[in-house]
Amino acid sequence: MTRRLIMDCGREADVLEAVAFGRWPDHAAELVAHVAACAACADLVVVAGALQNDREAACREAPVPAAEMVWWRATIRARADAARTASRPITVAQGVAGACAVGLTCGLASIAWRSVPWADRFGELATRLATRRVDLASTLAMEHALPLVLVLAACLVLAPLALYITLADD
Ligand SMILES: [Zn+2]
Repeated sequence: MTRRLIMDCGREADVLEAVAFGRWPDHAAELVAHVAACAACADLVVVAGALQNDREAACREAPVPAAEMVWWRATIRARADAARTASRPITVAQGVAGACAVGLTCGLASIAWRSVPWADRFGELATRLATRRVDLASTLAMEHALPLVLVLAACLVLAPLALYITLADD
């Protein structure tokens, strides 16, 4: 078994470029003379030439859609891009309006909770229960339960809105 030494040649890039761009062998007389004397470049011409022929055949057989179809798809894509660009500020405005509405609702609910008389009765009931054998912890929990629930609900609603507004630009 004979071992063939793999040799590198400094002109391989030039030969490969000439084959790839279709200049081989008609427009590369100087390279043809070099390839005749260089085994590495001769092998490169054989392999690269086969690949180039295969590429040209594949390009000839590739199905190209009709011009009307290409134009129609480009028009649809342009319209979709324009609609997406136009709707972006509207979406941001809707997000801001939604956040404002949630904040306003929470504020109004807090004011209503303080001003409605039955809330005082509820407070009195809580105080009575507190004076009776209810421990201090449960009284505090009942007094602060509603604002805490409101704050948690506001966070649950506002956090996805803030995330959406932040990520909407992408
Ligand atoms: Zn060479």
